[in-house]
Amino acid sequence: MANIKRIGVLTSGGDAPGMNAAIRAVTRAGINSGMEVFGIMRGYQGMIEGDIVPMSSETVSGIIQKGGTFLLTARSQEFREPEGRKTAYEQLKRFQIDAVVIIGGDGSFTGANIMANEYDVSFIGIPGTIDNDLYGTDYTIGFDTAVNTVVDAIDKIRDTASSHNRIFFVEVMGREAGFVAIHSGIACGAEVIMIPEEKNQIEKARRFLSERARKNRSSIILVAEGIEEGSTMEVAEILKPEFPQFDMRVSILGHIQRGGSPSAKDRIIASRMGAAAVEALIDQQKSIMIGLINDEIVHVPLNKTIKMDKAIDPDLINLTEEISTYVSSELKL
Ligand code: ATP
Repeated sequence: MANIKRIGVLTSGGDAPGMNAAIRAVTRAGINSGMEVFGIMRGYQGMIEGDIVPMSSETVSGIIQKGGTFLLTARSQEFREPEGRKTAYEQLKRFQIDAVVIIGGDGSFTGANIMANEYDVSFIGIPGTIDNDLYGTDYTIGFDTAVNTVVDAIDKIRDTASSHNRIFFVEVMGREAGFVAIHSGIACGAEVIMIPEEKNQIEKARRFLSERARKNRSSIILVAEGIEEGSTMEVAEILKPEFPQFDMRVSILGHIQRGGSPSAKDRIIASRMGAAAVEALIDQQKSIMIGLINDEIVHVPLNKTIKMDKAIDPDLINLTEEISTYVSSELKL
């Protein structure tokens, strides 16, 4: 493909804090490299509908500190169909856009990869999801902010839990991945962390509660929403009758985890990845995701990041056990 003159940028799937910083970086790095940049509204749905607007350096002024995505996002059923992708391609041609930077997660990259195999469009992915569950990058945009939001919320829950000597089951996002749970759990000193990657998580909570019978203090049991035993409410309902001596409550943090002003770390990662996406296009790259490994920018083939699962660092899982109350007391036996 000849030198790229016009690029599009879109956000797709779940929103994540820091997406605006990435849009800003793509726009400005693109313009500063002599490209024309277009914002594609509402992800793939806007691509299909031709909801495409020219961007300037000023368009992206004053958005770096804002959560959400000012290009808006959507889940597009039509894009999953060949007919929808054909229309999307026709719209790109109408606007003479030869390359698109996709800020999103696994599903968004799957869609981009399928379309790249059907039509001559260069797609560059930027990982944007609070879940941090994409293979090929240590961080995704939004993860750091989400973890800080969860830590802040749990610190507050801890205050009331301590005052009443209660046990709180706190549910955090993570249908398939426990990154938010593990990181925020370590940071706020959760007594138990239940993640979808591991089996028999309820037993961990049971062991802890049995041990706690001898203690008198508040406890936080952090639950990632995707654990095999069911919802947090169901887990609490199973355990309540087994431990009637404890006052147990459930708190589901929900969508507050997606919102808020992005952390400095997310803004910096997003800015680096946005600029790196434009550099990759200048280097005639296509169908890759920009990642960050050991604080260095890397390029990962889209089909690899889609196919491979990212594992939680086993050292972090071990750490939760090494410094947990109940295992350390067991070790003393
Ligand atoms: P998050 O991790 O926040 O959920 P995501 O990018 O994984 O983000 P999805 O809803 O899975 O979010 O995907 C976003 C969009 O990508 C879908 O609405 C759809 O338009 C497109 N997409 C996903 N999977 C496919 C597919 N197999 N074929 C074509 N398009 C797809």
